[in-house]
Amino acid sequence: MIVLKFGGTSLADAPHIRTIAKIVRNTEDDRPVLVVSAHAGVTDLLESLANRALSEKIGIADVRDIHVGILRDLDLPEDLVDDLFEELASILTGIHLVCELTNRTRDYILSFGERLSSRIVAAAFRSFGIPARAIAAWDLGLVTDSAFGSARPQDECYSRIRRSLKQVKELPVVTGFIAKDRDGNITTLGRSGSDFTASLVGAAVGAREIQIWTDVDGVMSADPRIVPNARSLPRLSFNEMSELAYYGARVIHPATMVPAVLNRIPVRVLNTNSPKHPGTVILDDPTPGAPPISSIAYRRQQTLINVVSTRMLLQHGFMANLFEVFGRHEVVVDMISTSEVSVSITTDSDQRLDPVLRELSEFADVTVERDKAIICLVGDGIRTTGDVVARIFATSRNAGVTARMISMGASRINVSFLVADEDVEKAVQALHEEFF
Ligand code: ASP
Ligand code: MG
Repeated sequence: MIVLKFGGTSLADAPHIRTIAKIVRNTEDDRPVLVVSAHAGVTDLLESLANRALSEKIGIADVRDIHVGILRDLDLPEDLVDDLFEELASILTGIHLVCELTNRTRDYILSFGERLSSRIVAAAFRSFGIPARAIAAWDLGLVTDSAFGSARPQDECYSRIRRSLKQVKELPVVTGFIAKDRDGNITTLGRSGSDFTASLVGAAVGAREIQIWTDVDGVMSADPRIVPNARSLPRLSFNEMSELAYYGARVIHPATMVPAVLNRIPVRVLNTNSPKHPGTVILDDPTPGAPPISSIAYRRQQTLINVVSTRMLLQHGFMANLFEVFGRHEVVVDMISTSEVSVSITTDSDQRLDPVLRELSEFADVTVERDKAIICLVGDGIRTTGDVVARIFATSRNAGVTARMISMGASRINVSFLVADEDVEKAVQALHEEFF
C-alpha cells in the first residue's frame, strides 16, 4: 500500500485535480490511499471568517465561490456540498450571536476545508471513472486528545484505521488535518497537519511508502527565496528531516516523521507540478558517502533569555526548577546552552514570556534580547567530517556574522547557532556557497 497526500496547492483548481487523478492512475500500487488537505487558501479563509464572526455578521460567499468554481470546472453538480455550506453558515451565525469563539469551535470551523475537498476530489475521481469514496478521518477511527488546535492521536487509532480501511472497496479519499476526540468533538492536528494524517494512516496500514505531494521539487538545500541556486536533495535520513522540519524547512509538518520513523516507512516528497521529478526520499538510514551538510535551515523571531545565578554553582535541581517555569507557562524552548553560572535559552513564544521572566527574576538575574534567528546546519556527515564546525564559523566570520550562542548535540547531526535576525540572509548565503 502507498499513501499519497496532496496539499492545498495540489488541489487548487480543476486542472490540478485532473493531474492528481493521472498521478494516482500511474501509481504502481493496487491499493493506494489518498489523504487530502483543503483546497489552497481555504483554511486561512475559514480562520479569518471565524475571527471576524465575533464582531460582524459573516456570510460564506467566499468559501462557496471557491468550491462551486471548482465543481463547475469539473462538470460536477454545483449543489454537491450544499449541506456543508449550510452547516458552516449556521456555526458562524452562532459565533456572532454568542460573541464567543472557543478553540473547540475554531477547530470545528477549520474542519470544513478538508470535509469539502475530500468530497469534491472523490466525486471528481468517480467522474473520471475511478471508483473513489470520501472518508472523514474520524470515521476511520482517528481519535485524538482534546488539545484543540494541536491534537495528538491516541494509541488505539492505528488498529482502528487498519481495520476500517480493510472494509473500503473504493479508493479512499481521507480528510487530512482533522480528527475527533473521545467525546466526539472535532479536533485539528495543527496547521499543515495533513502530512501528519498521511503518516499516521501509513503507519496504521503498514504502507511501503508515504508520498507527500506538494508544489516544490522535494526538500531543498536551503530556502530558495534566500538562496536562488538552492537545489533539491535526492535523499535525506529520518534524523536529518526531523531536524529540518522543525527548523523551518516548511515542506513537511514536524510531527510527520514520528510515525514514519517508528515504522521505518520511507517518506517521499514530490512535486504535483512536475510529477516526473524524483523529489526527495527520506529513509531510515544515513546516506552513505553523503556530503557533510545536507541542508541549511533557519528559524526567525527568536528571543534569547540569559539566566545568571551563582546559586547554580554545584547545585542539583537548578535546571529542573528553571525549566519547570517554562513548562508551566507552555513556552517552547528551542536552543539551550549552559556554563557553570549561566544558562542561555531561546524561544519563539515571545508573547507568553512575561510571566516566565517574572518568576525567573525571583531566583536569578535575567536579561532578554529580541530579534534573533537560529541558523541550523543539518547533515549526517557532520559526525564523520572533522573540519565542518571550523568551516562553519570561519565562513560566518568572513561574512561578518557573529554567533551569539552555539549548540551541537551529541548526536552530531546538527550545528545550530544564534545570530542577529538581520544577518540571516548573509549567513545562509555564505554557508550555502561554502558547502554546496
Ligand atoms: N488545511 C490545513 C492547513 O492549511 C492542513 C494542511 O494543509 O495540511 O493548515
Ligand atoms: Mg503543507
